[in-house]
Order: sequence, then structure tokens, then C-alpha cells
Amino acid sequence: MARRMLAVGNWKMNGLAADLPQLAAIDAVAAAHPTVEVGLCLPATLIARGAAEARSIFVGAQDCHQATSGAHTGCLSAAMLAEAGAGWTIVGHSERRADQGETDADVAAKAAAAHAGGLKTILCVGESLEARDAGGAEALVSNQLLASLPEGAAADWLSIAYEPIWAIGTGRTPTIEQIADMHAALRAALASRIGAAEADGMRILYGGSVSPANAAEIFALADVDGGLVGGASLTAEKFSPVIEAAGRR
Ligand code: PEP
Repeated sequence: MARRMLAVGNWKMNGLAADLPQLAAIDAVAAAHPTVEVGLCLPATLIARGAAEARSIFVGAQDCHQATSGAHTGCLSAAMLAEAGAGWTIVGHSERRADQGETDADVAAKAAAAHAGGLKTILCVGESLEARDAGGAEALVSNQLLASLPEGAAADWLSIAYEPIWAIGTGRTPTIEQIADMHAALRAALASRIGAAEADGMRILYGGSVSPANAAEIFALADVDGGLVGGASLTAEKFSPVIEAAGRR
């Protein structure tokens, strides 16, 4: 099945209103590459303003709470994010798993809540450097994915991002073979849970130090359906070549 390439920026805790011209410039590049679905997962404070400016890209959030409402100080529900203008959210980013202690069960609940609240979802998984060095990373991350996968996972609303923790923000990336092997393993794990046809349609992104220098080589892999991009998504200058590389697939 043909999967549309997906290039998503994760601005993390970066960005003020003064940075929105970068969104507008990225939007213009996305308009010129209609074969690629492009989005920016913004800090919550910028979602409404970003969504008002976005024409060719989607605006997403970086997390959503698993509850629909209640006593969860500082948290945001899927309905709140959707009302602000988000069409997507990330769940299970390794920084939240580490900083906020989110478990696989939390991540599955967040993904289900995001879907119920009308948000498309990117579910992140990935191994530590110790786990990579110890061997068996594919089995470990496949198990993490299956434990984090919500009931009713389907390709029309859920995408997966493989993000080795040791590659995030470090300038280091796995070898092309390691990325290919992991993406094949994750697709097989998905097939075991949701069936081969649904797994075949589900996009699996690579994330971790994607840059203008390495995007084309990574995106050329058959099981890589785009990228989740942190640092290189903060400016149009750096994100544009990544979008263009996805468009050449
Ligand atoms: C990320 O945190 O999702 C990410 C991929 O970051 P970076 O591209 O900066 O490594």
C-alpha cells in the first residue's frame, strides 16, 4: 500500500509568537510539496495562533492527557487541544517518558484519549543507548510498541515514530541498516496485533537527529514513511530540505 510521506516538526519547549514567521515559511514550502504531509507540533501556547496561520500544514500538540477533564493541574485534554486548533498530537515522547514518568500504559491511554477527542496521533518508541549496546533492540522496542498501542489502533489516525533516545538532539544516528531493521521489526509487530493490511498502511517515522544532511538517505528506506524532527524543524532554512527530501521519495 502507498503510504504518504509525513514530515513533522516537534518544537518542544521552544517558540514564542515572534517565531511564527518560521511556521509561515515552512507552510509555503509544504504548499510546494503536496505529496508530503507536513505538520508542526507546537508548544500549547502557540497552537491557536499557529493554526490560524497554517494553510498547507497541520498544527499539532506534543502531549495530551488521558482524561477528558478533571483535577489535573497544568494538563490539557484532547478536546481542549482540538478546540485550540490542533489536529494531531504526539504521545509517548521519550522526554515525557523520562521527565514525567509516563509508562507504556499511560501512553496507550493517551493515544486512545487523543483519538476519542478527534486528534490524529504520533506514538513514539525507542531504546536507550544501554539497550542498543546490550543487543536485542528490535525485540525491546517492538515490545514497547505493543505495550503502548491503544485498542483500535488504525492507520487512518495513528502513526508510529521510532526515536532512539540516544539519537535525540545528539547529532548521532543509527546506521541505515539499524534503522531499516528496526522499522521492519516494528511493522511486523504491528501486523501481529492489528493485521498485515492495517500495519501495511500505518506510517512509521524515524526521529533522532534528522537533518538536511541525512534526511534523503533515511527517507529512501522502504519502511521509513517520514520523520519526526526536533532541532531541524525550528527554522524554515533547516526544515525545508527535510521536506524536500521526503518529497523526492
Ligand atoms: C525529537 O525529540 O522528537 C527529535 C527527533 O529531536 P531531534 O531531531 O532534535 O533529535
